[in-house]
Amino acid sequence: MKFGEMFTEYRHGEEEWFLEKCRYVEYKKLKKVLKKCKTCKSTTRSDDESATSLSDSFQCQSCPLCDQMFFEELMKEASDIAGFFKSRVRHLLHLHVATGMQRCMMRLRRCFADEKQALIHEGHILIQYITMNAIAIRKILKKYDKVHGSENGKNFKLKMRAERIELLHSPWLIELGAFYLNSGLDKVGNFKNSFGRVSCGNLNEDQPVMKLMLPNSIELEFDLTCAICLETVFNPYALKCGHIFCKACACSFASVMIFQGVKAASQCSKCPICREVGVYEEAVHMIELQLLLKIRSKEYWKERMMGERSEMVKQSKMFWNEQTMQMIGY
Ligand SMILES: [Zn+2]
Ligand SMILES: [Zn+2]
Ligand SMILES: [Zn+2]
Repeated sequence: MKFGEMFTEYRHGEEEWFLEKCRYVEYKKLKKVLKKCKTCKSTTRSDDESATSLSDSFQCQSCPLCDQMFFEELMKEASDIAGFFKSRVRHLLHLHVATGMQRCMMRLRRCFADEKQALIHEGHILIQYITMNAIAIRKILKKYDKVHGSENGKNFKLKMRAERIELLHSPWLIELGAFYLNSGLDKVGNFKNSFGRVSCGNLNEDQPVMKLMLPNSIELEFDLTCAICLETVFNPYALKCGHIFCKACACSFASVMIFQGVKAASQCSKCPICREVGVYEEAVHMIELQLLLKIRSKEYWKERMMGERSEMVKQSKMFWNEQTMQMIGY
């Protein structure tokens, strides 16, 4: 089956009630734009073989016929999709953490199991949503490059990455993967009767990774090493740029104390990896990933927990000493 048909089928399938509320890639519409451009070009060529200058202009790096419609539209769609995905996953995981805390109170209630089932089902829908749209974007960009003989599609991908809207690079996808593993599941998203898969090996190894296998041979590997301490991230925070660090490491890099938190970092603090500024304020606390570490590598988790606590005590002592000294005027 062609992807276009598959995408249409997906959009009008079981999850139509969900998809009605959100944006998706207008695959068909974008394809039509390309088709029109293609026919336009071939007629120009056959009309006047000698007008090489005209057909040459199509080989250049921009296409007056479709660029504005195409890239502007796609950028808007991708940014809406990424935003929608983020807010839905955040909501879903918030519910999960909340139910975890209320578990003792809820134990007597039967509805707990059903609620969890509902969360898992919604997780499936969200992974399908982000994957199908990501595939649609990849396919349409490839088509664009094929029609135009250009690299604009490829470059656009880089631009998407720079704008933080590359759909499959979201830290929320890692959180969702961790949520599945924490629930004892390795199947994610239901794609036409086949499932995507999530796995992670021993998290306390040299190269801790989480792997996501999705349809269309999309294999994602998320490195869970902190680039500062070179160990598995503990109490992880994803900065706005998507890079993940231990809370303690990010705080010390940005010269704030652990108890003040990552978000207290100043506007001009840079990401240790990509050197971008202004990335701390919207940092995401990766609660599911932290829970995964606690479940999978208990000893490591304990060790790091104690390390973080004692560092925190040391820092607050220092902080209060300074405050008192200032107050009594030393
Ligand atoms: Zn064109
Ligand atoms: Zn670290
Ligand atoms: Zn970064």
